[in-house]
Amino acid sequence: MKIAIAGAGAMGSRLGLMLHQSGNEVILIDRWPAHIEAIRNNGLIANFNGKEIVEAIPIYSPEEVIKSNIQADLIIALTKANQLDGMFQAINSIITEQTHVLCLLNGLGHEDVLEKYVPKKNILFGITMWTAGLDGPGHVTLLGDGEIELENLEPEGEAFAKEVVAVFKDAKLNPTYSSNVRYSIWRKACVNGTLNGLCTILDCNIAGLGEQQPTNDMVRTIVAEFSAVAEKEGIELDQEEVNQHIQATYDPDNIGLHYPSMYQDLIKNHRLTEIDYINGAVWKKGQKYDIPTPYCAFLTQLIHSKEGLLAAK
Ligand code: NAD
Repeated sequence: MKIAIAGAGAMGSRLGLMLHQSGNEVILIDRWPAHIEAIRNNGLIANFNGKEIVEAIPIYSPEEVIKSNIQADLIIALTKANQLDGMFQAINSIITEQTHVLCLLNGLGHEDVLEKYVPKKNILFGITMWTAGLDGPGHVTLLGDGEIELENLEPEGEAFAKEVVAVFKDAKLNPTYSSNVRYSIWRKACVNGTLNGLCTILDCNIAGLGEQQPTNDMVRTIVAEFSAVAEKEGIELDQEEVNQHIQATYDPDNIGLHYPSMYQDLIKNHRLTEIDYINGAVWKKGQKYDIPTPYCAFLTQLIHSKEGLLAAK
């Protein structure tokens, strides 16, 4: 399959690398000049479960992609949430009636962005449990195992979505064709909407969060707010199961010792966060449906304040 990775940072590099290794015609699209130059000169260098591997994958800036009118059967969106619109604005002219787009970003509301550029019948959504770290230009760390769940937005997209599942299976990405990816997106958003913002503001790892009774109470309240808003969008979250799923992450043998990605982005690297697409999205949707979401609103504003204090970019 001809696959373009729109946003070849940490996760884009993982998918690009694994799909290229399994014989697909992959290109990476990114706007970071040093990253482009490093991959062109030396290939994409990865610590792949402790072993260094080098994969020579073509990489282009959005301007180069447009100039060469490079086409793809599938574009996999893997920018940060606040960068998605900019990316699709930049590569809009290569999207045809045949191009499918798979969105694997964390967070909510991305269909509102993608539907501006891609026919709805060609949009697929997914969630991924794979992880990846960007060490510097052209270098990534890809540890552990993961899974991907995906589904088409419209019934017409089913055959193509199943083709993508088969391609991902060959690439050992452990995919499943989902029967309700919107439920899974909301369930994952609950995890991100509690662990990410709270660990970032409280300056603690996930186990630390779990040790405090007040934070346990906050987690339950935030999940209840997500659940009330999700219900208005036709998703009935099983709150008890979601809370148990979050509690399981506190275990140091699970991911308890880990600092969530928002913590790493904001506190360590002073980068803007995806909060507007997680708690901020629930706050905004809550206003639309007249559902109070005070904890999501407060957490969103705290994170934005911290972004300001750290002059995050
Ligand atoms: P990242 O910041 O490492 O990568 C994003 C890349 O997109 C960057 O290299 C950036 O230069 C590029 N980009 C952004 N806007 C662009 C534009 N207009 N034109 C060209 N390039 C552009 O981010 P990431 O960690 O890979 O995360 C991507 C998404 O995947 C996020 O939604 C994140 O929450 C989700 N996710 C990440 C992980 C992980 O372990 N990193 C795991 C699961 C889900």
